[in-house]
Amino acid sequence: MSQRAIDALKSHLGPQGWLQGGEAAQLTRDVRGAYGGQALLVARPASTEEVATTVRICRAHAVAIVPQGGNTGLCGGAVPLGDARVMLDASLGEEPSPCIVLSLARMNRIVSIDPLRYTVTAEAGCVVQAIQEAAADVDRVFALDWGARGSAAIGGAISTNAGGINVLRFGNTREQVLGLEVVLPDGRVWDGLRALRKDSSGLDLKQLFIGAEGTLGIVTRAVLRLHPRPPREQTLFGAVGDISRLMDLFALARTVGDAELSAFELIPGDLVDMAIDRSATLIRPIATSSAWHVLVRFSGQEDVTEKLEVFFVEALERGLLTDAALAGNLAQEQNLWDLRDAISPMRMMTGKMLKWDASVPIDRIIPFLDEAQRRACAVHPPAKVIAFGHVGDGNLHLSVWPERPADAAGDQAFDMLCERIVIAIDALIWEFGGSICAEHGVGVENISRLRGQKAPLEFEMTGKIKAMFDPDNLFNPGKVFDSSFRKLTDH
Ligand SMILES: Cc1cc2nc3c(=O)[nH]c(=O)nc-3n(C[C@H](O)[C@H](O)[C@H](O)COP(=O)(O)OP(=O)(O)OC[C@H]3O[C@@H](n4cnc5c(N)ncnc54)[C@H](O)[C@@H]3O)c2cc1C
Repeated sequence: MSQRAIDALKSHLGPQGWLQGGEAAQLTRDVRGAYGGQALLVARPASTEEVATTVRICRAHAVAIVPQGGNTGLCGGAVPLGDARVMLDASLGEEPSPCIVLSLARMNRIVSIDPLRYTVTAEAGCVVQAIQEAAADVDRVFALDWGARGSAAIGGAISTNAGGINVLRFGNTREQVLGLEVVLPDGRVWDGLRALRKDSSGLDLKQLFIGAEGTLGIVTRAVLRLHPRPPREQTLFGAVGDISRLMDLFALARTVGDAELSAFELIPGDLVDMAIDRSATLIRPIATSSAWHVLVRFSGQEDVTEKLEVFFVEALERGLLTDAALAGNLAQEQNLWDLRDAISPMRMMTGKMLKWDASVPIDRIIPFLDEAQRRACAVHPPAKVIAFGHVGDGNLHLSVWPERPADAAGDQAFDMLCERIVIAIDALIWEFGGSICAEHGVGVENISRLRGQKAPLEFEMTGKIKAMFDPDNLFNPGKVFDSSFRKLTDH
């Protein structure tokens, strides 16, 4: 059966349209090397019609589909499950299905750009940076931005409802999407490529596919919002005086320049030191070392330097900052944001990392951080806790490094210890009214943990939606939805 599916897919897609062997293997593991499995092949359709036919062939042969954009996702959503077989609920008496990866990489065109409408239409495999550059060419801004901009694709961003450094000013991906074209699990194409700011003609179906991580449909094209390009932008890099007063610093930035404040990022001093030590190009912005640093960017139609200076002086006077530097030219500005991009605990540290992409109400960020450190150490005193993130929108990336026992005999105990830390921090996030999936999505990583975050009624409602779109569970099975939704179908 699988071989017939492979033959049919190869003949439909042509020699450029599929990969097997070494090249395919690379695309079946995630960016962290934490997740992955085998696929029959990697399909690389070049058009919406080819995606639709691929879906129909897979459907006819009961082959599951794992959509993939840039494969930069951090929750294992874009790669096959571990054993090359999708996990269905054994109690339903079904055989698990083999899967393919469906890469959108060849569908990478900007279809059109319209500066008067402030929109761009792009294929799903178009890389985020290419859309940023196309927007800049017509004096507009495409708001999505984060470290993986050069490889993350817009279809992946839409499917994870990605965030990044500009959420504070422009909102997350959901707020950038005006219209979508989607291939549904039955192989039909939904053309929802509308470029309207206002449309109250009933349910807004595109919202279902944003953040669905390929479980309800394959996004093939999108109409995206553009924004006016602020001609002036300037960033301050500051040493935080007292982390417990970080929200006073944030409030000050809003008071001085609410309309101008476009990014507010928190970075720990030791990661700044590591990033600079490991880089041949990064320049240390200030000599003062501190446990915590902030990057504060103001953007506007007028020169923002004066406002940033007011913010700087007042923050120094009030002890909120102990030192700071304003980027004086484009190279310095770039250096600050390159430094921010280089902050990646997973690349900088070795050993087992437990990570949280947490969001909490913004006024609770610092109490949350304190308590997270306390609880991780209560479970495991030597635990090292690192946090950084887009604190201006309540998003903290928290990592915990437990100490692994030297002897292999301790492996099982170590796994149990990690589990206890995860349970303790998840519970804390929920106590603070937060989410364990702020911007990276659910994927495989968070699927079993989500049960603690939402009421059963929410799972029932979302499960019914999944069951309606994809009753056979062929679209990215084992991601976002656990198998319980199958009990909501007639199978
Ligand atoms: C260094 C680094 C920094 C990062 N910083 C941030 C950050 O600041 N903010 C943030 O939000 N994320 C960040 N990420 C995570 C990642 O870049 C985003 O989640 C991004 O949106 C993933 O895009 P992608 O194209 O790589 O998607 P993939 O990893 O390929 O896929 C992600 C999910 O979407 C599904 N999918 C992909 N394309 C489609 C499609 N066309 N139709 C349907 N489903 C699809 C996949 O099946 C998978 O479930 C970072 C990652 C790295 C490596």
